[in-house]
Amino acid sequence: MKHKHISIGKILGIPIYLDPSWFLILALLTWMLAQSYFPLEFKNWTKFAYWLVGFITSIFFFLSILLHESGHSIIAKKYKLKVKRITLFLFGGVSEISKEPPKSSAEFWIAVAGPITSFVLAAIFYLLAKVFVHNQYLVASFQYLAFINFILAIFNLIPGFPLDGGRILRSIVWAITKNYKQATTIAANAGRFFGFLFIMLGVFQIFQNNVFDGLWIVFIGWFLEIAAMSQIQRQALNGLLLGHQVHEALSNDYGIVYPDSTVQEIIDNHFIGANRRNLLVKDNNIIVGFLTPGRINSISIKDRQNKTVEDVMIPLQDINKINSTEPLLDALRSINENDVRVVPVIENGNCIGILNRNSITQFIFELQKLGALK
Ligand SMILES: [Zn+2]
Repeated sequence: MKHKHISIGKILGIPIYLDPSWFLILALLTWMLAQSYFPLEFKNWTKFAYWLVGFITSIFFFLSILLHESGHSIIAKKYKLKVKRITLFLFGGVSEISKEPPKSSAEFWIAVAGPITSFVLAAIFYLLAKVFVHNQYLVASFQYLAFINFILAIFNLIPGFPLDGGRILRSIVWAITKNYKQATTIAANAGRFFGFLFIMLGVFQIFQNNVFDGLWIVFIGWFLEIAAMSQIQRQALNGLLLGHQVHEALSNDYGIVYPDSTVQEIIDNHFIGANRRNLLVKDNNIIVGFLTPGRINSISIKDRQNKTVEDVMIPLQDINKINSTEPLLDALRSINENDVRVVPVIENGNCIGILNRNSITQFIFELQKLGALK
């Protein structure tokens, strides 16, 4: 999904991305402002004026979201948490922070910084609308921006994960009970509750003949529900893998190939012949690299005869280093973050197995069979 995002620059050293769905919401918002919102209150503008003010206002709305996310990010950085990226998408913005906050107070302040930023923006736009009271275009735009930033702050304060309010709720429960897991479960379940509530509210609106608004509310509710649910699942998975190490979840499902074989030979003998997709490259019994299905698939059909394993493999020095005694959870995180989703674990020059999502899933099955899961 990452590669489909469009990079648009950096704020405070944090890369900013646009998801393609962002263009849809930009168009919808511009259309809504130009066709119904502005014409209701401001008569006698030209059609062009409605569209232009609608478009510029939409852009400022997204800048406001970007500032809201920057608010989170600035505080996260204060707590020495790395902010990987900010992405704007269909439902607003999201700041990807590389780790969970180390303590409840950090979580609280990072979460609350977003809505505070939005409240401040609402106040600024409100004042600007007062200052430029004689210019209808500016008044229209500033009034809407004051209103929408206020709504944005209130909406985000709804106390259910993944909204900011859910994080605030988690931080408070966490501070009181000292139990991070329990706090997460409560905030995520609250998120599911609000998700369902939104879906019902939306359906109700649809029956009231408010089809467009209703559908929109249903979608928001659905999104909240999915995000809250995935948080619950992630938590369950974390609980399961906690205390286990990499060497427990390794698989031996890999083949050995030589650097001078052609890509075509690899496809014929290993992919099709033996259905082995992860390949360790050895030269004179020494590991020199690793070959993943992604690398093989990236070679065009006409190049398969003349490219060799050596040309396309990941050289030993570029292989993500994972230690066999590393916590399994950390390794899973690094696999999920990396473009290469499979890693050979090499110790003293020998490969002791490969780690990927399949091998971890297999390990979870084994645990369940042993009755470790209740
Ligand atoms: Zn926020």
